Amino acid sequence: MPEILIRNADHVLTMDDDRRELRGADVRLRDGMIVEIGVGLASEGEVVEAAGCVVTPGLVNTHHHLYQTLTRAVPGGQDALLFGWLQTLYPIWSRFGPDEMFVSAQVGMAELMLSGCTLTSDHLYLYPNGARLEDTIHAAREIGMRFHPTRGAMSIGESDGGLPPDSLVEREEDILNDMVRVVDGFHDASEGSMCRVGLAPCSPFSVSRGLMRDAAILARDKGVMLHTHLAENDEDIAYSLEKFGCRPGQYAEDLGWTGDDVWHAHCVKLDMQEIDLFARSGTGVAHCPCSNCRLGSGIAPVRQMRDAGVTVGLGVDGSASNDTSNMVLEARQAMLLQRVSQGADAMSAREALEIATRGGAEVLGRDDCGQLAVGKRADLALWDVTGIESAGSWDSAALLLAGPSRVRDLFIEGRQVVRDGHVTTVDLPRVIERQNALARQLAQ
Ligand SMILES: [Zn+2]
Repeated sequence: MPEILIRNADHVLTMDDDRRELRGADVRLRDGMIVEIGVGLASEGEVVEAAGCVVTPGLVNTHHHLYQTLTRAVPGGQDALLFGWLQTLYPIWSRFGPDEMFVSAQVGMAELMLSGCTLTSDHLYLYPNGARLEDTIHAAREIGMRFHPTRGAMSIGESDGGLPPDSLVEREEDILNDMVRVVDGFHDASEGSMCRVGLAPCSPFSVSRGLMRDAAILARDKGVMLHTHLAENDEDIAYSLEKFGCRPGQYAEDLGWTGDDVWHAHCVKLDMQEIDLFARSGTGVAHCPCSNCRLGSGIAPVRQMRDAGVTVGLGVDGSASNDTSNMVLEARQAMLLQRVSQGADAMSAREALEIATRGGAEVLGRDDCGQLAVGKRADLALWDVTGIESAGSWDSAALLLAGPSRVRDLFIEGRQVVRDGHVTTVDLPRVIERQNALARQLAQ
């Protein structure tokens, strides 16, 4: 791949081990990697002028259900609590198929990329009408996004006392077989990987204890990561105490669901003992502040988690419960929410951005991403700070206090995928048109 020099950025926020911030600096990209960072570097290829821009590592999204971009703001679910909200949406999702999965994933990815995100995970836990995990993997390949899809699953349907309709759940044997199939077919463990597959039963209340345990054993056998929803709200804790006789942290630990190869979404209701367990075991957290607000779940104790040494990243969560997939606004919301619960000094704009970049990469086990340093992957976001959002700012690098909510340019694996605010890899207006046509069909 040809060399690209990003030249003369106002500010480069590296998020490297020393958290260096450079002014008037250049970044050289070659073969998908950052090969040089400095001032006044000579150009040997394509040059991207970055005067008037802040450069950050690409943001990392650690929790999403991309398929839900097709069911944003559904009237019956707009103001419902979590369980009621799910019951409104399940019948609509049961009509999805491969096309819906592909197009909705691409819409979600494009929205993420425009908001600075270069690496996203996805949690796809329903496979109606022939839909498969690779529908989303193909969408990621086409749009050029670094992708960590997870093979989710639900096995306890209405007839077994669960929440989802029976048509959306699968037999546990089939789930495990398909987990093996997608890991063998699509997981790439190598450095610089563009696709790593994880295993992700939807939540402790939608699969059996046996499947939770078997998925953990399979993940260790295959060397892939584990992901699920945990301790999202008070109902979730009450359910765990009633059905399992213990809190979610204990349940997770008993079934092999702790360790640095595991990350849990939400964790709003973790108590101090559980926070300590996560810190000791290296278990990661995907904090989803907008979704927690949207569903009234509460404020996750992120300050306490970080102070205890828990690895925390950010997630926009499914678009049906956010309803947007804007990573930089998610980071701003994370900062604001900690301040609501703990005061204005609880989280700085830079710390929230660190969680959104380096933190997310650590959660996903990617020490090759999430920071700007020589030898790391060339995933970068360029933020134009000459516009109205930054006018009058005394610290243009404090992007989350005053700054744009969309990138000017975005690079993934050294390839420019957003230029001047436009996605370069797909015909986005056409993708949006297809998405809206599918949404209209589903609404009939
Ligand atoms: Zn979720």
